[in-house]
Amino acid sequence: MAGIRRTKIVATLGPASLARETLAAMVRAGMDVARLNTSHGTLEGHREAVRLVREVAKAEGRPVAVLLDLAGPKIRTGETAYGRALELRQGALVRVTAEPVAGTEERFTIGYPRLAEDVAPGERILLDDGRVELRVVRREGSDLVCEVVTGGLLTARRGVHFPETALTAPALTDRDREALAMAVAECVDYVALSFVQDASDLAAARAAITALGGDIPVVAKIERKQAVANLDAIVAEADGVMVARGDLGVELPPEEVPVWQRRIIAAAAREMVPVITATQMLESMVDAPRPTRAEASDVANAAWDYSDAVMLSGETAVGKYPVEAVAMMDRIIRRAEAVMGPAPEARSTDEQDDHSYVVALAARRIVESDPNMRGIACFTRSGYSALLMSKVHPDAPIFGVTHAETVYRRLALARGVVPVMSAAVLTTDELLRALDRALLDGGHVEEGDEVVVVASLPVRAQGTTNFLKLHRVGDAATYDW
Ligand code: PEP
Repeated sequence: MAGIRRTKIVATLGPASLARETLAAMVRAGMDVARLNTSHGTLEGHREAVRLVREVAKAEGRPVAVLLDLAGPKIRTGETAYGRALELRQGALVRVTAEPVAGTEERFTIGYPRLAEDVAPGERILLDDGRVELRVVRREGSDLVCEVVTGGLLTARRGVHFPETALTAPALTDRDREALAMAVAECVDYVALSFVQDASDLAAARAAITALGGDIPVVAKIERKQAVANLDAIVAEADGVMVARGDLGVELPPEEVPVWQRRIIAAAAREMVPVITATQMLESMVDAPRPTRAEASDVANAAWDYSDAVMLSGETAVGKYPVEAVAMMDRIIRRAEAVMGPAPEARSTDEQDDHSYVVALAARRIVESDPNMRGIACFTRSGYSALLMSKVHPDAPIFGVTHAETVYRRLALARGVVPVMSAAVLTTDELLRALDRALLDGGHVEEGDEVVVVASLPVRAQGTTNFLKLHRVGDAATYDW
């Protein structure tokens, strides 16, 4: 199949896009994953949105995964007296408290109950995306006395960051737990965990999902300074990662963001999990029909760096041009992918003797050395073989053939993978026949085309990729097993 786009598109849904026709147009323009952000809206609203995405995807005949992004412990400043903006002057002393007070220039609220316990003298507090900076001078009872390092106007309910503080509040809030219950009930395809500090946050989320009777992959959002310090351990525990550049760019200086973007993508490659590069990718398209040149380059570079997916946030949630933003991302990625450099090795030489990985490397080698090969067909029950194949980055399309609808949708996030639904099979004999039918019925290949088939056999087993066959599509019907 010519002309597949390998890098996937995640689009955040919101008032600008939550209408059947708009969503259908976004799916046709190339949306692979719909992100619902629980920082905004109600859980009932998100439940309806999940159902609408499912209906639209079905009507369009396209695999679309749903990613529910949990708000996590987002910390904000409190209300201000008379609703006015506070004028915080550089060098002034100001008290901050967890108590709800009508904020003034002398004392205002930061809505974090463990403020005085967790934040130590000498540490910085960033307000309103880092526009205002405080440094803690001393504790006084349940207040912190701070010096204003960078002054500015502070309105009510601005975001707060503590880049030097290990916060003891859990990454999973009570509201996140309610959202997880909805996610399990609606069979959401991925959940994203915000403000992760270390691997234990992921274990807690996974335990909560299991306790609810679910099995949903967890994407770790890397957006805290503590998360980059614990990056390898977090990625090893995660089912996917997001380079959440919005909050990351508050906690780290701007010049560190591209450096950590590369490191996070490399860590995801080593652990063989999908990675999403996110935030402000086509930001100017919130208001304008065309992006800036720098934004176009940012999307192209994320594709060249082998991100599995790139993400739209405000552009599709509240912007004026949600469909055009998806279509623009699609065009930029396709053009960039036409001139890709050589793929990096996901694993270093001493890690390459894992048998599944060797099978995947062999499949890539065969399709790259034989121009007759149309692609790699992974017959996958859990998605494992297709995800593995995706991380080996063959030039040819990877057909992720599965009978499980959840796997079909989840593979929408994996770079280079074309999800394909097939009939369920019980025996190895049936596998190749079902695979031929699925590829032909979906119009992905023609009878007589050649593909490399990889799978995990016997068909009831899961976890290792141990089978490779050079296969002519259609031949399975003629086999005399
Ligand atoms: C980010 O901070 O870049 C991000 C994706 O998270 P959110 O949209 O939840 O702020």
